[in-house]
Amino acid sequence: MRITTVGDPVLRERAAEVSLEELRTPELQRLIDELIETRRQAGGAGLAASQVSVLKRIAVVEVDDATRRRYPYKPPFPLTVIVNPVLEPLSGETLLINEGCLSVPGLRGDVERYARVLVQYFDRNGARREVVVDGLTAGTFQHEVDHLDGVLFLDRADPRSLSTWEQFERHHMARFLERIGPYT
Ligand code: ZN
Repeated sequence: MRITTVGDPVLRERAAEVSLEELRTPELQRLIDELIETRRQAGGAGLAASQVSVLKRIAVVEVDDATRRRYPYKPPFPLTVIVNPVLEPLSGETLLINEGCLSVPGLRGDVERYARVLVQYFDRNGARREVVVDGLTAGTFQHEVDHLDGVLFLDRADPRSLSTWEQFERHHMARFLERIGPYT
């Protein structure tokens, strides 16, 4: 599927809740397969349906070898399909994470994220699930759920922290890795 980019109004819409009946349809199951495949090819840490222009509250998170070519410091995380996710911060502690986004080619920036969150969601079979995630993984889940609300990391980033990937690696990466060391 084609990943759309910043400026496309679809990225600014709130995605709709998915009913369990709808989730069982071949169309939605195919959409989930395509999200998984598209994320694997693009190599991000996650992909929300909004990014492929489908306004349903579905996202995939996975940190595999393809992800780690883009973000070498992210801890591995197994494929997780989240439907109608709800996030709850488990403490007020936050973490300044330098993020990128497949829908914002070329740019990265610092975003303050909750360090530990409870994620309640339905899996692709409609079973109710929950997981507690922390550190960079918690940041990834917050980034994906933001997409489902029409929010991009650019909205939350300190504009003065924005950089190209090249300049990030040249000037900012060492300090960032030091800062997030305990979470990798
Ligand atoms: Zn994104």
